[in-house]
Amino acid sequence: MRVGELGFWWRSVGGPPPPRAPLEGNAEADVAIVGGGYTGLWTAYYLKRTDPSLQVTLLESECVGFGASGRNGGWVSGFFSGPPRLYAARAAATAGYEALRREMFATVDVIARFLAEQGADADFHKGGHLTVALNEPQAHRVRREVREAHSHGLDERDLRELDGEALAQRLRVRGARSGSFSPHVARVHPVKLVLALAGAAQSLGVTIHECSPVREIGAHQVRTPAGSLRARWIVRATEGYTAALPGLRRLLTPVNSSMIVTEPLPRDIWREIGWEGLEVLGDAASVYCYAQRTADGRIAIGGRGVPYRFASRTGGAGDTPARTITALQRKLRAMFPAVAAVALDHAWSGVLGVARDWGVSVGADPGTGLAWAGGYVGEGVAAANLAGRMLCDLLLDRPSELVRLPWVGRVPARWEFEPLRWAEINGLYALYRRADARERHSTKPSRLAGALDRVSGRR
Ligand SMILES: Cc1cc2nc3c(=O)[nH]c(=O)nc-3n(C[C@H](O)[C@H](O)[C@H](O)COP(=O)(O)OP(=O)(O)OC[C@H]3O[C@@H](n4cnc5c(N)ncnc54)[C@H](O)[C@@H]3O)c2cc1C
Repeated sequence: MRVGELGFWWRSVGGPPPPRAPLEGNAEADVAIVGGGYTGLWTAYYLKRTDPSLQVTLLESECVGFGASGRNGGWVSGFFSGPPRLYAARAAATAGYEALRREMFATVDVIARFLAEQGADADFHKGGHLTVALNEPQAHRVRREVREAHSHGLDERDLRELDGEALAQRLRVRGARSGSFSPHVARVHPVKLVLALAGAAQSLGVTIHECSPVREIGAHQVRTPAGSLRARWIVRATEGYTAALPGLRRLLTPVNSSMIVTEPLPRDIWREIGWEGLEVLGDAASVYCYAQRTADGRIAIGGRGVPYRFASRTGGAGDTPARTITALQRKLRAMFPAVAAVALDHAWSGVLGVARDWGVSVGADPGTGLAWAGGYVGEGVAAANLAGRMLCDLLLDRPSELVRLPWVGRVPARWEFEPLRWAEINGLYALYRRADARERHSTKPSRLAGALDRVSGRR
């Protein structure tokens, strides 16, 4: 089994292509974008598509898709991070939370249309999202989440509960009591999406420099070891890596997520499991897992390993501790006992960006020329597309409904100083694990989990 090396998605396409030339010397652009993940690439793509006369230059410290965009679980989710109250609180001054929800649902189709226009398949399949409840407390939680979603404007067409039988018609997970289904989620091969996007941006005329780590972002200027770039706008699209930039240590915390992928499963095992609808799949634990059936017939499953490394370290190419791999493998085998005999092919990790209040923010300050988007937690694949369209409208000062949505202009509180932050995040996940363990022998959702949700602000 391979470990790290940027993960299976990159390996499955033969690894990153030869690097694009770095920035050298002093240059100018209308817009400089820092970070070549989905956020940076979508922003570049929309800006250039909307105004082809713009000079848009993207600087990436390693290769495009080096970060979470090349390592994620491939859920193109119409749902997003942050409790409704966070956005509803801002809704008086902006378009409402409900409008944001609908725009995110529509974003899944925006990505589908983009891929179709590019003639890039990227293994995209809109089969929806299944949550399975693996014990009674999880079944309570699923029911409550469906009820709450309905009280915030969704209906049965957006999210509905499934009883055990309805669930088993879709897929067989051992111990599953019930579940829920939403059609607003698709599966994708994350790196194929990165490659389609980088190709599209470049063919529109976006300049991409790789191996160009930005050491400092200032008003209208960024600096790399080999050069500097002046621009009217500087877009920060560095998500889980933001804390390494001067002055931004406490803005977004890099929280780790880890994945494993099996070898392709034989046909008889797939017959036993079902999963013909290719829905993305998660459980309803507090430390939840997320999975997809890949286009070549594997199961890729992820979850939280080591939650956070001291001083916001980001873990390079994704090395993953043996105990994290074992824990994910145990989860996989518990859910799908038939997979026990199938070898694992690859394990890797990456970092996602988490704001202190778990919410997404998008903004632009015309005074300094600084713009930013991020804080998607584990739901950034589709969210980065919407954020990119918002940034495009903000930077081009276009009248738009998107810039009235409640992500825009939000200023989240900063994280605590170390070592408090380290203790807080790792302590939180240790307690969530304890809550999950208690729920395995209980009939009601853990009160500890509820208290942790409130204290952390996660829900
Ligand atoms: C293991 C894992 C599984 C996930 N699963 C899902 C999922 O299934 N669905 C979902 O919606 N979300 C998922 N996420 C989250 C999602 O992948 C991210 O939210 C999304 O990719 C963020 O995109 P981004 O462009 O903002 O950040 P990134 O993809 O992290 O890109 C940031 C880029 O900036 C570059 N960079 C950083 N600092 C600098 C600098 N100083 N100078 C130049 N370049 C710099 C980095 O090298 C990186 O390429 C997952 C994340 C992980 C780690």
